[in-house]
Amino acid sequence: MIPFFNISEKIENASENALKMCCNQFEKINEITEYNQLKVQKAFIEFGISESHFVPSTGYGYGDRGRETLDKVWAKVFGAEDALVRHNFTCGTHTLATALFGVLRPGDKMLCVTGTPYDTIHNVIGITGQGMGSLKDFGVEYNEIPLKDERIDLKAIEAAVNSSTTMVYIQRSRGYELRPSLSVDEIGQICTAAKRKNPDVIIMVDNCYGEFTEKREPCEVGADLIAGSLIKNAGGGIASTGGYIAGRSDLVEKCAYRLTTPGLGKEVGATLGLNRELYMGLFFAPHTVGEALKSSVFISALFESFGYDVTPKYNEDRHDIVQCLGLENPESLVAFCQGIQSGSPIDSFVLPEPWDMPGYDSKVVMAAGAFTLGSSIELSADAPIREPYYAWIQGGLNFHSAKICAMLAAQQMEDKGLLK
Ligand SMILES: *Cc1c(COP(=O)(O)O)cnc(C)c1O
Repeated sequence: MIPFFNISEKIENASENALKMCCNQFEKINEITEYNQLKVQKAFIEFGISESHFVPSTGYGYGDRGRETLDKVWAKVFGAEDALVRHNFTCGTHTLATALFGVLRPGDKMLCVTGTPYDTIHNVIGITGQGMGSLKDFGVEYNEIPLKDERIDLKAIEAAVNSSTTMVYIQRSRGYELRPSLSVDEIGQICTAAKRKNPDVIIMVDNCYGEFTEKREPCEVGADLIAGSLIKNAGGGIASTGGYIAGRSDLVEKCAYRLTTPGLGKEVGATLGLNRELYMGLFFAPHTVGEALKSSVFISALFESFGYDVTPKYNEDRHDIVQCLGLENPESLVAFCQGIQSGSPIDSFVLPEPWDMPGYDSKVVMAAGAFTLGSSIELSADAPIREPYYAWIQGGLNFHSAKICAMLAAQQMEDKGLLK
């Protein structure tokens, strides 16, 4: 019997079976987690992190040792020359935009090779949003290469890159699509193919949701610049805001000139006492990502056992923390999200309802009961109310907590007579 929560025998038995199905993947995840934990720990030791790195700075923030050393630790962990880790990146989109505007100049050509990028980047590039100050407004040309049968099209990439291509842009995670995420190996293949055609091309990776899901990170296989959010994987569920950029030091410097100002770059930026949580977040990140991965694998196994379409499947290797569930109808999407929410540590009493979210062409229902507003390394689910009625689920600060939420989601569906 599950203590403290009312779960039917059917769902309890299905959960026990699902857990057994997960054994092999959990072992693989444990191995990756341990490897990455040791990598992070070694970097902390190498740079002699101490209480003094947590001392808050104010004003200009000149000579903030904590800030400067965090960049070095980060670079080490991500296999990069340098990094820019800051609490004042407001979100992942802001971080990615800073990197793009930091290195691209009028007349430059950006080529996205993983299909159309994540929604919020459209305004940054100028795919949508005329006159907002997008890259397009500043004369940066944009093109993209669609995926072929949901996979990267290496031949088309190699054919498209030439001496005038400034940047090849890669999105590692599926984001809110159903396509598979890219492995670091595949990112390496793109880097090799693109650099064969133009050794000077800058390879940039949107690393959101991908960090610590594998033993290697994109800079280790040829990427020049990566960026991500600290309220996803890399903040370990501890960082309460922020983002990071890492890669070649000349490029990171340009990004710093964009984040602050030309000339000042990395020299300024008060940390206000936030260093401690950014260090602690990085320290926790490999473990937290492991918990999130296990949560996704379990949800996949459980809902597959009920007969739903799931992607990825429980026994597939993962390169991001996102799980998609085909729940077949609007009622099930709503019940699922309500069930997840009902088990959340924060805002459990809130009943999610579909609403017309700005920027979406259909209603969306979301579950998010998080310590950090909008954090998606914490268990969260989003579902646009439109065909094919998929929910996107990600995160889970700890597996046991996410597991009961998944069972409550199934229970909510069963109580409404919706569970297959
Ligand atoms: C989350 C995400 C972003 C944007 O990050 P925000 O913090 O939501 O602005 C960009 N790309 C991918 C793949 C993401 O998952």
